[in-house]
Amino acid sequence: MPDDPQTLYQSVCQQAVDIARLESAEALLGWDELTKMPAAGAEHRAEQMKLLSGIIHQRWTNPRLAEQLAILAESPLVAEPHADTAVNIRRLKRKVDRLTKLPQSLVEELAQTASLGQHVWRKARAEDDFAAFRPVLEKTFSLKRQQADAFGYDECRYDALLDDYEPDERTANVGRVLAELRERLVPLVAAIAQSERRPNSALLQQEFPIERQQRFGRRLSAAIGFDYSRGRLDETAHPFCTGLGPNDCRITTRYDARSFGSALFGTLHESGHGIYDQGTPTEHYGLPLGETISLGIHESQSRLWENLIGRSRPFWQCFYGEVQEAFPEALAQTPFEEFFFAINEVRPSLIRVEADEATYNLHILVRFELEQALLDDDLPVADLPGAWREKYAHYLGIEPPSDTDGVLQDVHWSAGMVGYFPTYALGNLYAAQFFAQADADLGGLEPMLARGEFHPLREWLRENIHRHGQRYSAAELVERVTGKPLSSAALIEHLRAKLGPLYGA
Ligand code: ZN
Repeated sequence: MPDDPQTLYQSVCQQAVDIARLESAEALLGWDELTKMPAAGAEHRAEQMKLLSGIIHQRWTNPRLAEQLAILAESPLVAEPHADTAVNIRRLKRKVDRLTKLPQSLVEELAQTASLGQHVWRKARAEDDFAAFRPVLEKTFSLKRQQADAFGYDECRYDALLDDYEPDERTANVGRVLAELRERLVPLVAAIAQSERRPNSALLQQEFPIERQQRFGRRLSAAIGFDYSRGRLDETAHPFCTGLGPNDCRITTRYDARSFGSALFGTLHESGHGIYDQGTPTEHYGLPLGETISLGIHESQSRLWENLIGRSRPFWQCFYGEVQEAFPEALAQTPFEEFFFAINEVRPSLIRVEADEATYNLHILVRFELEQALLDDDLPVADLPGAWREKYAHYLGIEPPSDTDGVLQDVHWSAGMVGYFPTYALGNLYAAQFFAQADADLGGLEPMLARGEFHPLREWLRENIHRHGQRYSAAELVERVTGKPLSSAALIEHLRAKLGPLYGA
């Protein structure tokens, strides 16, 4: 006799939670590899990871699970689309369907090429040798075309890949919003570049002893609400955040004794990711209702704390005195205005990860346009470096002198991550929209921030965003919370309001 839907649902949920526990073991090994593991442990770690990821893939693609989800998808449990059962069934089914659409041979080839690609890319970048990277990049895009075709799509190939990072979002919609953003941003950045006012950015490149940076970074991340009783902060070469379980979130940062901002803003950024992770409902751990929605929404939470709060005037009105006390040699004599202008400097630059709040999105636009052209075979890989330089000249008014500082700077394409870049810009857009709405709902955030009261904003984020897990898609959520669809208006308004007075632009 077939199980009744409720019993079947319980069984499916139990399988999903078990897989989540396996995945968190894999994530813990990954965290350890990047923070603690001696280099000599790499080979054994790679074997452990391979074994675990194979077991996880087997569990997800178990035909019985797909059958059970197919039955549930036709059951009364999905009648109300935003009910707990319907959300979990729909999201799990979608995940399993995508995983089972790819032939095993393609999965293996993608994994091998990604591993080889990163290896070749690292060497090519160090030696400024795009020609050495070209063959593996050609292979990567050819495999990504096959992957997109295996997933299937309605409008364009890129949709099929974007879906891995930003479920339900469409290339055409992202393209429209980013084009709007570009139209308003390029003139703003150009006006700033022509302004006679310049911050004294050298004041942020003095000696900032690392132990004091560590203390201050922890102090600020705890103040904004990263819960250290359910999380940790460690050091890595490339900062990241990883949720290892319902009450275990790990964030990392890196320190540079000659930089005020690199660790501090990085810590605020990762804390924002961590606060989102810690805000998802623990009772739904391992199920879609207990998981974050998309990379774009994740990035909105990190950018909100890093930029909208962490580079705001009221935030530093609250903390600048403490900074001066922590770093008296560097900042005791520096007036507030000079410091505030320096942390908000806008300067078109070549490297995405070092870009400021305003020009950052132009770096994304370049990559978003180029990877679509590569995927559609409209741009041969051989012509990529030239196309890259052209777009940088056009959007940012500068041209990289080398491919190392140009097309070879990011790891993403070498690792097969195509469709990932736009989520960074989506994060910036969503962050500004959410912030504007929170400001309106809470009756003006400025005085609260100036008093160091972050609790109301954090609760607002928890109530409106974090606690829903994957109940709504990113597009549904932003409409629900702000009453408006994804748009560039809030971000442009925020940048103009802050940068206009600083630069007289
Ligand atoms: Zn991030």
